[in-house]
Amino acid sequence: MSWSHCGKDKQGRLIGYAHEAICDHEDCNKSIDRGLSYACGGMHGEDEHSCDKYFCSEHLEWTLDLGDEYKNVCQDCMVSLTTSGDYALNVEDWVIRPINHNTQDEPFDFSNDDEDPWFGDDMMGASG
Ligand SMILES: [Zn+2]
Ligand SMILES: [Zn+2]
Repeated sequence: MSWSHCGKDKQGRLIGYAHEAICDHEDCNKSIDRGLSYACGGMHGEDEHSCDKYFCSEHLEWTLDLGDEYKNVCQDCMVSLTTSGDYALNVEDWVIRPINHNTQDEPFDFSNDDEDPWFGDDMMGASG
């Protein structure tokens, strides 16, 4: 398996770094290839963070910080992420980060305190 030929995208275009292309940003004529380094989100295909388009580095301009990894995404994906309500653009460093919906200081819920099934059993031979 090689990354030079990776099948086709949704528009039926050949993808993989062996395939020369033009940046998918409208009005941009930069030549790129459809390899991973130009793929929105850094991976072929569409996923929850990125589309299946290919852009020059100038148009893969937005950084998405997922905590354990960074992805470069295009303008359209930045807009759809930040309007989804799950991500916000941090205006200090222009990085997109997930919105933590659990930031309220709720105390940990101890009510689900199941009895230890082993407790009271004769496992320790205490019945002696
Ligand atoms: Zn995109
Ligand atoms: Zn471009």
